Amino acid sequence: MTIDLHTHSSRSDGTDTPTALVAKAHHAGLTAMAITDHDTTSGWGDAARAADHFGIRLLRGIELSTTNGEQSIHLLGYEPNPDNTELTALMQESLDSRDARTPKILAQINAAGYDLTFADVARHAEGSTPGRPHVADALVDAGICRDRNDAFDRFLRRGAIGYVHRTQPSVDRAIQVLVAADGVPVIAHPWGRKSHVTEARFAELKALGLAGIEVDHQEHDATARDALRGIARNLDLIVTGSSDHHGTGKTNHELGCNTTAPEQFHRLVNLTRNRGVYAGDAS
Ligand code: AMP
Ligand code: FE
Ligand code: FE
Ligand code: ZN
Repeated sequence: MTIDLHTHSSRSDGTDTPTALVAKAHHAGLTAMAITDHDTTSGWGDAARAADHFGIRLLRGIELSTTNGEQSIHLLGYEPNPDNTELTALMQESLDSRDARTPKILAQINAAGYDLTFADVARHAEGSTPGRPHVADALVDAGICRDRNDAFDRFLRRGAIGYVHRTQPSVDRAIQVLVAADGVPVIAHPWGRKSHVTEARFAELKALGLAGIEVDHQEHDATARDALRGIARNLDLIVTGSSDHHGTGKTNHELGCNTTAPEQFHRLVNLTRNRGVYAGDAS
């Protein structure tokens, strides 16, 4: 099995529709995958139909942006009940805060002398809520930035001229909400750009219901991966690996560039409420 458990579609900040994403994953040789758009389950239906069609096993998930004190932590949740009231409220709060922030970001960018309108941004967010990645796309389109990374560096990261704070739930609360919605929480890229979760903190989060750690991720070097694997072993947490594919929105994140071991996948699937979408041979 070739398993990739973290991908984004155009329902958040990826560039492939959910259907195209699943087709691409199949053609890239993946036999199991997860769709994990930021704060939305709106891609699940199309992704499930495509998974059925192509005979690829699909876990339906989400990615939530949360805080850990001053740090920012992304939390993956697999197969939560998409109708759970607390979870939909949590996702909606995030979408609303992103919505409210975009005009402020644009005002700051305009004040710095760059001409960029909401319509320029909205064009890149068809089917999703405009967030910073779409502002980045508009900056690239306008010839102001080279790519998304350049746009984050110069305009959108914390401390840059277009940065506007947005409120996010704590990782503790997000785990509790996910667990109450029958979802399986896994911390995404815990030692990535913006976070460094300690073993003691992982232990606390496990007590709240954390099930796994995304160890194999492009933002982790070999040393970080070894250390995180050690922590996962000590705490008996599941180890996952994934591409965090965003289509053309992120380079060096090609589908299947990191993968999850089959036994780890089966451990995770066994914790989910309905085991995802089976298609073809699910062994
Ligand atoms: P938002 O939720 O609107 O603040 O956007 C956050 C999303 O932007 C993250 O989930 C990432 O996918 C993306 N992002 C954050 N930092 C960067 C970066 N330096 N380069 C490219 N994409 C980024
Ligand atoms: Fe993203
Ligand atoms: Fe992330
Ligand atoms: Zn992601």
